[in-house]
Amino acid sequence: MDIARLYELQKIDTHLDKVRRRVAQIRQKLGEPQELLRARAAVDESAVELEQVRARQLDADLNARQLLERIRESEKRMMSGQVRNAKELEALQASIESMKRQRSQADDDALAALQRNEELQQLLAGQRAALSRLEGDWQTQSQALEQEELKYRRMYSQLKQQRQGMTERLDGAALALYSQLQERKAGVAVAAVQNGLCSACNVSLPTGVVSNARIVEGSPVYCPSCGRVLFAS
Ligand SMILES: [Zn+2]
Repeated sequence: MDIARLYELQKIDTHLDKVRRRVAQIRQKLGEPQELLRARAAVDESAVELEQVRARQLDADLNARQLLERIRESEKRMMSGQVRNAKELEALQASIESMKRQRSQADDDALAALQRNEELQQLLAGQRAALSRLEGDWQTQSQALEQEELKYRRMYSQLKQQRQGMTERLDGAALALYSQLQERKAGVAVAAVQNGLCSACNVSLPTGVVSNARIVEGSPVYCPSCGRVLFAS
């Protein structure tokens, strides 16, 4: 059996495994990172609050103006001398006082909204700058990842071609043994002998086993520990 060639096939398959794992890792990384998603959510949140604050500011402002007009009207009525009844005058005076308090509250609300508006604009500017930095970084990073994936996809198709060529040069019995072992031994059917050790399970091999494995065209020699076919160069 051509063990050397089987070992070449094994090397191709091991390489293919690595390429597949790397592509899987790249694909996992190709989703937008948490940091970027959080930065975008922060910008959206501040923008929504800014809209609300602007509406609040405008409401308070309109409310204050309306109250001012009503206060002026009431004051005019009081000054006009048309209202002579003391109780009515008292009620009018009370209503003016109440409207003045409301107006003062509306002014406070408008001022608070204005301050929050300014704070939010500053915050939002910072958040937008951070977001655009992260987006830039991510664009560079994802382009690099896509390039890397392309490189691995090319490598993958080259390896597949090599594999095809290799299997065509192996006989049916060798291929059958190989795929059986591959299935049972986590994808690794052939292990090299390195410094007297099995490269798959790292067990020290008896000298007889090593020298038998050196007979290139002989029948397969198995690692007594893990059961894989041994290849000794
Ligand atoms: Zn072994």
